[in-house]
Amino acid sequence: MTIQRRTLLAAACVFALASGAGAALAQSFPAKPITLIVPAAAGGPTDTVARLVAESMSKTLGQTVLVENLGGAGGTIGMRRLAKAAPDGYTVGVWHIAHATAPSLYNKLPYNVVEDFDHIGRITDVPMTLVSRADLPVGKVEDLINWMRREKDKISYGHAGTGSASHLCMVMLTHQLGIQLTGIPYRGTGPAMNDLLSGKFDIMCDQTTNTTNQIANQKIKGFAVTTKARVSSLPDLPTLDSAGIKGFDVSAWHAMWAPKGLPADVATKLNAALLVALKDAKVVERFAALGTAPVSAETARPEALRTHLAAEVKAWGAALKGIAAN
Ligand code: ASP
Repeated sequence: MTIQRRTLLAAACVFALASGAGAALAQSFPAKPITLIVPAAAGGPTDTVARLVAESMSKTLGQTVLVENLGGAGGTIGMRRLAKAAPDGYTVGVWHIAHATAPSLYNKLPYNVVEDFDHIGRITDVPMTLVSRADLPVGKVEDLINWMRREKDKISYGHAGTGSASHLCMVMLTHQLGIQLTGIPYRGTGPAMNDLLSGKFDIMCDQTTNTTNQIANQKIKGFAVTTKARVSSLPDLPTLDSAGIKGFDVSAWHAMWAPKGLPADVATKLNAALLVALKDAKVVERFAALGTAPVSAETARPEALRTHLAAEVKAWGAALKGIAAN
């Protein structure tokens, strides 16, 4: 056998072994627990969405889907970890609209938000609420807006870092009001909510998944929802649009991503398990109680998510120009 033939044979063996291993990996996936990165603190709105979905996917996949909270820097720390993880399906992540705004807000983002990820599927669009500490001496949303204009130099708000939904919402609102307030960044609105409950800052714009129960139990005050339509689980809250903040419409769409390069069968299995979760009665019921609903199966397709994300990156790039700086 010539050296050339021997080399060719060896290469063929390596290829056969590698592709055989790939097929076996996909067939047996998942053979061990899956880590689901949430790039925000535990107890917050994304954590709530992710844990409900993880529980359902665990049942479908027959393996534990373990949530790992990795908050900080508006979610970019956790998404960086996800982008650099092995693309084998054993590390996935749930994040939201902040993934689309990050390229406009972070100069040196160490990953490309569209190209460095496999897009597993969209999950839900969560409306947001404008809320305050319980003892704020203000009644209706119109009064709150007047108070914000009047007391702007003294008011502080909590948020989950630059580009997070809570930051974005307040940036858009204060921009429309022509004022600036002092923001206090947290690793997520889970810990921010704890501080709002104890009155450490005044107001917050946060997702219904984190505020609904606190408003119902009168632990905080709810003033308005941030979507164009009212939210049925919060029937007393008007929209910001109807309160004079014309056209205001901000919500936090959530989705699941994996590092780029998943074997096709693994990606298909993950998307299929996600689709089951979106129809899971427990998920649907909990989402509804918290002011949201799963997206349709059509919207949850990987390609639909990729298209949506690319469009959002573009739209927010234009919307945030000159408004928010890192
Ligand atoms: N999603 C963040 C969290 O779970 C909050 C935010 O983006 O405002 O804490």
